[in-house]
Amino acid sequence: AISVQNVSKRYGETLVLRDINLEIPRGEVTCLIGPSGSGKSTLLRCMAFLEETTSGSILIEGEPLGFIEKDGKRRAQSPSELRATRSKVGMVFQQFNLWPHMTALGNVSAALRRVRKMPRKEAEERAMAQLTKVGLEDRAGHYPSQLSGGQQQRVAIARALALDPTIMLFDEPTSALDPELTGEVLNVMRALADEGMTMVAVTHEIGFAASVGNTVCFLDQGKLLFHDTPEKVFAAPRHPRLEQFLDTYL
Ligand code: ATP
Ligand code: MG
Repeated sequence: AISVQNVSKRYGETLVLRDINLEIPRGEVTCLIGPSGSGKSTLLRCMAFLEETTSGSILIEGEPLGFIEKDGKRRAQSPSELRATRSKVGMVFQQFNLWPHMTALGNVSAALRRVRKMPRKEAEERAMAQLTKVGLEDRAGHYPSQLSGGQQQRVAIARALALDPTIMLFDEPTSALDPELTGEVLNVMRALADEGMTMVAVTHEIGFAASVGNTVCFLDQGKLLFHDTPEKVFAAPRHPRLEQFLDTYL
C-alpha cells in the first residue's frame, strides 16, 4: 500500500504537484492518466524517491519514505531506513534502461548480485525464474540489441520483479513500443495484477486502465482532479478536462 499525504512538489517557481492525497491499497491496480506535463511522472518518481517532495509525506506499507515528519518538523531518513523502504518499490520506465553489454540474464541477475549481494549461481537461477515468468526463458542469452522493444521491456519488468518488491510502479511502459508490441507488455502487467501485485501505472492505454485498473486517477496541472473506479471516471457525462484528454488519446 502507498499513502500520499498532502504532497506538493515545486521546481523553482513552478508548482508541479499541488496537495495530492491518494491512498493506494494493497493488491490493487491504480492507473494514472492526464495530459502531458500534468505531473504524472513526477508523482510516480516521488513514490520511488527518485524525486523528493517539497512538502507532505509518502508512506510505503505504512513506513515513511525519505522523510519522517513529526510535530510539524521534517527530518531525513537515515540511509539504511531509506534503503529498506525503497527496496519495497520496483519501477519500470518508458525507456527500458537495460545495460547493452549484458544479456537478458545478465541484466536481471546483475541487480541481484549488486543490490542483494547474491552469489552468481543463486542470482542466475532467480533471474531465470523471472525471465520465465515474463515468457523469455528462450531469450536469456540475448543482448538487448537482439531483442524487440517488447522483449526488452519484459526484461526490465523481470529485473524489477527479481528484487522482490511489494509495489510496482510503471511509467508509460508501452509508449516507446510499436503498437503491435504493446500487447505482450500489457499482458505481463495484467498477469501481475491477477497475482495481486500492488501496482501504479501511468498509461495512455485507456483500455488497459478501464479493464485492469481498480481505480483511475486523473491528474491535471498538478492537481488530482478525481480518483474513482474506471466505470465512474469514464462514464458520461465527463468533466470537460477529462473529455479533452480522452479526445486526444482515444
Ligand atoms: P508526460 O505525459 O509528458 O510524461 P507528465 O504528466 O509525466 O507528462 P511530468 O514529467 O511529471 O509530467 O512534469 C510535470 C511538470 O514538471 C512539467 O511542467 C515539467 O516541465 C516539469 N518538470 C519535470 N521535471 C522537471 C525538472 N527536473 N526540472 C524542472 N521542471 C520539471
Ligand atoms: Mg511522464
